[in-house]
Amino acid sequence: DELSNKIAAGEVVERPASVVKELVENSLDANSKQIRVDVEEGGLSLIRILDDGDGIDGEDLETAFYRHATSKIRDDHDLFRIATLGFRGEALPSIASVSKLTLKTSDGVEHGHEIRLEGGKVVHKGTTGARKGTEIAVTDLFYNTPARLKYLRTVHTELGHISDVINRMALAHPEVAFHLTHNGKTLLQTTGNGDLLRVISAIYGTQVAKVMLPIEGETLDFKVRGYIAKPEVTRSNRSYMSTIINGRYIRNYPLLKAVQEGYHTLLPIGKHPIVVLHIEMDPILIDVNVHPAKLEVRLSKEQALQELVTSSIKTMFKQTRF
Ligand code: ADP
Ligand code: MG
Repeated sequence: DELSNKIAAGEVVERPASVVKELVENSLDANSKQIRVDVEEGGLSLIRILDDGDGIDGEDLETAFYRHATSKIRDDHDLFRIATLGFRGEALPSIASVSKLTLKTSDGVEHGHEIRLEGGKVVHKGTTGARKGTEIAVTDLFYNTPARLKYLRTVHTELGHISDVINRMALAHPEVAFHLTHNGKTLLQTTGNGDLLRVISAIYGTQVAKVMLPIEGETLDFKVRGYIAKPEVTRSNRSYMSTIINGRYIRNYPLLKAVQEGYHTLLPIGKHPIVVLHIEMDPILIDVNVHPAKLEVRLSKEQALQELVTSSIKTMFKQTRF
């Protein structure tokens, strides 16, 4: 019901960037190859996501806004082998309950469908054109939750968070073309050609991309690949360290430690590397159902993974002449 959607919104939708994250995750889950994100005023006046994914069936459209309506999990067997970014069925109802939202969608074969909700209530349903994919426009975010609205920071801060979200998504999915604009101005554009180094270059600049070294490692359980900067180019905080497991950007302090460990004595004290690490594993080894925002995960065989990460980096440095 409306109240429980608003309560869930408190957990899932903290700020405009959380809306962007959830909607882009849905676009990725729908096999999109191109995702465009337009925001205005730090997402406070408009967040619009346009994708070229599978779309939503007309019959399923209203259901998608019911709580715990997910098309991604059928039983608890699936819950322990999560291969999609979403699975809780909370994002759409939560976002809709605290905003005004219009969604247009089509599978590209027949005409599309359109739905509009205000404060979680359906106010319009209709048909639209047959462009394949989904377009969601969210306006008036938190208009009916004044306390949450008041807590938001400046346009600048909110935009910074949105930009971080899209950067992480782009690093996690080099095979998808991302385009982010703010007030009509392009902030990030990636090609979607699958080249991680090009994404790194688009986000951190060509100077950083130039000093990145490739990492590779593999055991029966894990596959690790990515790029790490030479020790002479470091940062004073950890926000340039990205760990991505099965296409999901995650935060895991022991993994970051394992990366630093790989530098051994090469890393200056108090400095942190620039690194983007992709880790692939059987979804059964990872529990993402820990936190509503799904940023934190639990890993089985955590120590074996840490050792692989450390040794892959060490090996690479041993082979590299400076
Ligand atoms: P979840 O992602 O956990 O399944 P959501 O509330 O985020 O739940 O989305 C509900 C459902 O709406 C999804 O399971 C999916 O079927 C559908 N959906 C949402 N966004 C898209 C999209 N961009 N393209 C295709 N289907 C979508
Ligand atoms: Mg989702």
